[in-house]
Amino acid sequence: MIIKINNRKIKFTDELLSDINRFKQSYLEDDEQGGMLIGSVILNTNDVVVDKVTYPMEGDFFNRVRFIRSLRHNRVLHNIWEKSNFTSMYVGEWHTHPQISPVPSSQDISNWKRLARKSNSDVDTFFFVIVGIEDIGIWYIDRNTLSIEKIYGGESS
Ligand SMILES: [Zn+2]
Repeated sequence: MIIKINNRKIKFTDELLSDINRFKQSYLEDDEQGGMLIGSVILNTNDVVVDKVTYPMEGDFFNRVRFIRSLRHNRVLHNIWEKSNFTSMYVGEWHTHPQISPVPSSQDISNWKRLARKSNSDVDTFFFVIVGIEDIGIWYIDRNTLSIEKIYGGESS
């Protein structure tokens, strides 16, 4: 999927989207899951390819309506960053919601703003994917102004 924002292109690979779609909360007993989004900036452009994630792992806190990832995700990110010759970097977060079409909670919005202010990354915008039961939603935040905009809502492919 390629999303155009002004004159930039943001690509979420189909593999990544179908991969995280596996975690959607189709059943009442399914808990929220999530992780980081990892991507790279295309050389000499402002375009971003989001092609990797971290997966739910031991140490995460989760229940039906809440997901808090553990600090272990940072170690996975660090390994991917080193192996990629420092080109694959943190570009945001994904998590699931038990909603047909996901809507970010006020907790999500404040988390996103906190991450935008505090995270260590070369990109000036972060992306947030919420995987709903039928649709996915994608938002981005400008790290300077902290303004958040929805850039996609619909089927995952
Ligand atoms: Zn949420």
